[in-house]
Amino acid sequence: MLTTAEQAAITSGRDFWHTAPVESAGLPAVTVTDGPHGVRMQASSGDLLSGVPATCFPPAVASASTWDPGLLRRMGEALGDECRAQDVAVLLGPGVNLKRSPLGGRNFEYFSEDPILTGVLATEWVLGLQSRGVGASLKHFAVNSQETDRMRVSADVDERTLREMYLRAFHRVVTRAQPWTVMCAYNKVNGVYASEHHWLLTEVLRGEWGFEGLVVSDWGAVVDRVRSIAAGLDLTMPGPDEDGDRALVTAVETGQLDPHLLETSASRVRKMVEKAGKRPAGTYDAEAHHALAREIAGRAIVLLKNDGGLLPLSTDGRVAVLGEFARTPRYQGGGSSQITPTRLDDALTAIRETGATVTFAAGYSVESDAPDQALLTEAETAARESDVAIVFAGSVRETEGADRTSIDLPPAQLALIERVVAANPRVIVVLSNGAVLATKPWDEKVPALVESWLLGQAGGSAIADVLFGRVNPSGRLAETIPLKLADHPSYLDFPGENSHVRYGEGLHVGYRGFDARQQEVAYPFGFGLSYTTFTYGAVEQDGLHIRVPVTNTGDRDGREVVQLYVSLPGSAVQRAPRELKAFASVEIAAGATEEVVLTVEREDLAYWETRLGRWVVEGGDYTFEIGSSSRDIRATVTVTVEGDAARVPLTADSSVGEWFADPRGAELLTEAFMAAMASGGDGVMGSMVADPDMLMMLGSLPLIRMAKFPGSPLSPEAVEKLVAAANL
Ligand code: BGC
Repeated sequence: MLTTAEQAAITSGRDFWHTAPVESAGLPAVTVTDGPHGVRMQASSGDLLSGVPATCFPPAVASASTWDPGLLRRMGEALGDECRAQDVAVLLGPGVNLKRSPLGGRNFEYFSEDPILTGVLATEWVLGLQSRGVGASLKHFAVNSQETDRMRVSADVDERTLREMYLRAFHRVVTRAQPWTVMCAYNKVNGVYASEHHWLLTEVLRGEWGFEGLVVSDWGAVVDRVRSIAAGLDLTMPGPDEDGDRALVTAVETGQLDPHLLETSASRVRKMVEKAGKRPAGTYDAEAHHALAREIAGRAIVLLKNDGGLLPLSTDGRVAVLGEFARTPRYQGGGSSQITPTRLDDALTAIRETGATVTFAAGYSVESDAPDQALLTEAETAARESDVAIVFAGSVRETEGADRTSIDLPPAQLALIERVVAANPRVIVVLSNGAVLATKPWDEKVPALVESWLLGQAGGSAIADVLFGRVNPSGRLAETIPLKLADHPSYLDFPGENSHVRYGEGLHVGYRGFDARQQEVAYPFGFGLSYTTFTYGAVEQDGLHIRVPVTNTGDRDGREVVQLYVSLPGSAVQRAPRELKAFASVEIAAGATEEVVLTVEREDLAYWETRLGRWVVEGGDYTFEIGSSSRDIRATVTVTVEGDAARVPLTADSSVGEWFADPRGAELLTEAFMAAMASGGDGVMGSMVADPDMLMMLGSLPLIRMAKFPGSPLSPEAVEKLVAAANL
């Protein structure tokens, strides 16, 4: 049994990356470190972000574009092996916040604008990591979808949106993978710091979802240790925090804090440390991990455009490789997730290694956004003298701590594209970026466009694999590319002001909003081309299982990502026109047909019924759309689903319309009106209810308010009796 002082001490860290040891109890310090796409063990004491070399896997923006849970599982396992090799107990990831706006500064660390895609992929990552005896830290809980004012801003979001969108991925990962830890966010949620949010950290996370692990703070997120422990936060990082430790002891001694709460938090830290102690040491094969990083990177690349089959390239011709990013790759974002890679592939070298004849020109400098005429002319000449030109472009800076202010390419790069296209129309643009970039209008002049995100240390080779056809692209957009920033559903409410951001688009995050407003987009959610083509056969449906034969009609082996979107026409609640509920990434040999099975989980059909405070599956005829992207639907089936029993109780404040919409209420109210009229109720109200048109007008009138009108057919006492009878 630890003393109160020991309990307090163990609930804050020893330093930046270790828990506090308790010698008397034989508890060692264990190491926790970032995360999420590599293991960043701080290398030098003076530099927080320097790391011991480790494999820099593709950041989440890229790994999510694979839409392949199996790959995420393998990445998690490999990360677990690297953690074991470096004696790391907990890797700080994955980040499952939704990409609410394309400006989000940490979008590169997050998976998607869709909660199911995010949740499915992150679950596999956690299962993979934890299969190695290393813990995950699911972050940032919750609603941390921006960097602006991140340590103070209140994300103001209604409960249905919170549950269905922003908490959904957390729920999935917690209930299916039990991460060892959950990391609370910096921001406030509806006015309360996430680090002090009892409802989030205790009622929802533990009470409703059954989370068994410990809640750790984001680094520096705790404002008041006593309030945090009372809310359900266990471990404050970094440490030490002796003032906070003392405050906890005093709070227990003075009765301000229930001692049981501190004891529970301390025992959670203790359990985590003991669990970590069971982890065997290990080693890893850096070459094999580099190969895995390359495989994932190749699978993450999204082919957006390929007019006239310009890609894949043959190695015979002369290739102009243009743009600084070809030799100085952008492969990860800045901040806590930054990895020192074991090696770094650049596309220029990888393209040269194919045997193609290559001329390189930098085209722009990353130091300046302004066009440099000498660099442009050099690139233009190289393009003119080659058979094909590949322009490497992308975003210059993306880092934790700051949101972006634009989604446009810098002027220097736009000028490069323009000059190269004028010199040689056979142009391929390869983008490197951690979050969406606008591609209009310049992509209309470019026959081929490759979205290669930030691909980690093997990205350069993976890009060459795709450009030269060693890998047939199969990546799909996990976020919509809008025509312009102002079209985005989040546009008017991002990033907020005066420490509040209103989630004004509600449920209509990302593609849900574009679809609801029937807006054109540059490239839709779920989109991505291949060097082959696929056709879909007749769909068979059995309950919530869908089978669809998919045929590779081209002459190259390839991979199709089959997607299933759901809607409920005529739903009683507001819903997006389509929501992703299932998907599968399937390898199909040239000419072959594979039967793809997609299963919608019934719980994923539920909406959060605010009046009942619970999830409800609404009964009805659902539309299941099966397609190759959210805007390329190949088959539609109607699936009848039996709903949950979910009657909202009628009250005196329920409106006349609500009473009539409820079968029992309608029966009772009709009877009451008829009885009132039969007994001579002839007041104004009485005659109004006798006329169906007038009755419609009264639809929004709460019953009790009707009772208060002169000449009402109902008295307040009668309303009381009706309420009792309706809810028997
Ligand atoms: C980030 C976390 C990270 C932590 C530790 C914070 O600034 O928000 O994602 O895990 O630092 O480096």
